[in-house]
Amino acid sequence: MLLTPRARLKSALLASAVSVCLLAASAPAVPLGVGDRLFPYLGNPGYDVASYDLALVYGGANDKPLQAVTTIDAWTTTDLDRINLDFAHGKVESVEVNGATAAFASAGDDLVVTPQKSLPAGSWVRITVRHTSDPVSADGQDGGWVKTADGLAMANQADAAHLVFPCNDHPSDKAMFTIRVTAPDAYTAVANGLPTGVARAGGSTTWTYRTQHPMATELAQVSIGRSTVVHREGPHALPVRDVVPTKDRAALEPWLKKTPAQIAWMEGKVGPYPFETYGLLMADASTGFELETQTLSLFEKDLFTEPAYPKWYVESIMVHELSHQWFGDSVSPRTWSDLWLNEGHATWYEALYAEEKGGGGHTLEARMKAAYGASDRWRASGGPPASPKAPNPGQKISIFRPNVYDGAALVLYALRQEIGRAAFEHLERAWVHNHRDATASTADFERLAQEISGRDLTRFFKDWLYGAKTPTMPGHPDWKQAPPAAKGEPKAVPKVAPPARRSAE
Ligand SMILES: [Zn+2]
Repeated sequence: MLLTPRARLKSALLASAVSVCLLAASAPAVPLGVGDRLFPYLGNPGYDVASYDLALVYGGANDKPLQAVTTIDAWTTTDLDRINLDFAHGKVESVEVNGATAAFASAGDDLVVTPQKSLPAGSWVRITVRHTSDPVSADGQDGGWVKTADGLAMANQADAAHLVFPCNDHPSDKAMFTIRVTAPDAYTAVANGLPTGVARAGGSTTWTYRTQHPMATELAQVSIGRSTVVHREGPHALPVRDVVPTKDRAALEPWLKKTPAQIAWMEGKVGPYPFETYGLLMADASTGFELETQTLSLFEKDLFTEPAYPKWYVESIMVHELSHQWFGDSVSPRTWSDLWLNEGHATWYEALYAEEKGGGGHTLEARMKAAYGASDRWRASGGPPASPKAPNPGQKISIFRPNVYDGAALVLYALRQEIGRAAFEHLERAWVHNHRDATASTADFERLAQEISGRDLTRFFKDWLYGAKTPTMPGHPDWKQAPPAAKGEPKAVPKVAPPARRSAE
């Protein structure tokens, strides 16, 4: 995710952490979680999802609930009398477990399912939930469906997929997805992965998409709109497809055509593109952020049509979301405290691209020096990069603070200074290769860095990732913390004043 300028400011102002409210356990159904420090009730223990099949019926109005059937195939990992799913916004009509009617109840953000017979560990189980999926967000719930001028898109990061469909809503449980969307004929639906079929009947069209790689629930994307799908070819014949409002196709083409070369640039840095397709979803919406939904990144159309944004800046934002396909999507975080691995790397390649391709001296070193000057303040307000403060309840974007963006890219810069450019570049390639299609943690990154550099980096990572204060920068002992609002404050926004943009909801 990358907050747009106004939203970044808002996020910075929301820096103070509020402790997460723990719900009292009430018999019989209780909400469970996988123990994520930042989202205690996200995800559920006792099973491992293999695949989701989402079938959504869109009636043509983006303020009315969609009819939905979510089918989950999973393996149980312990004996289960009840199966907790995350689902908190929609009406559940029925639940079946292995074809038999099952009882269900809501508990906190969980949908607690009680099958007729308990499930032993190691069972294959199919859970079918008939429900509505409501694009109108409830009070205090942020994210999930995004209303666009002509339909809907999705923005589930970090904890909002379960506002759209029942799931095990934690990136540690990735699964394959089949997504079927039925919409009136005037609409085009696109989802993650590649199309596997289009069926027309009675004024409606059903579009089916399937992922070829496992995906975290937070990275699911469904676009429904009066859209055109623009096809082109990327490196090694990679199918690239962009989803654009039909009326804006010509205006957006100068930007869209840059993607293949950007993919080639990233491949030159870290190795092969990890998925079956890529493209941009240009939403006619003011989300306040861009989002790396797997194989189809979500962008606000205005980022490209508003002339106040400099070209180098817009291109670097495109590369930010593209680089997330490796860092965050293919290699997804084990817990949300590992978020710095997503955003630190995406910021790193965003800044590196600006330096190499942006023209006009947007050097990585200058950006890192400025980040160094603000780093102690970012740590004070958001926590150290690998131990971020908790989100504010109901505000999913509030963990996306500067400490995990430029503050985390600064850690990568320090690491490159410490172990040298060759070892660092080797580490980056090995990281996305070794953990492809999986989840990985900060400890995994530390281990790999030590292995590749042949160095004991225990103290280095402890200080840089977990320290309240920013350590001395290797090779730049003269870099100092800067007072607030001093000259040299990092420019998260372009030098040209951006137009007024609505901040995130
Ligand atoms: Zn990002």
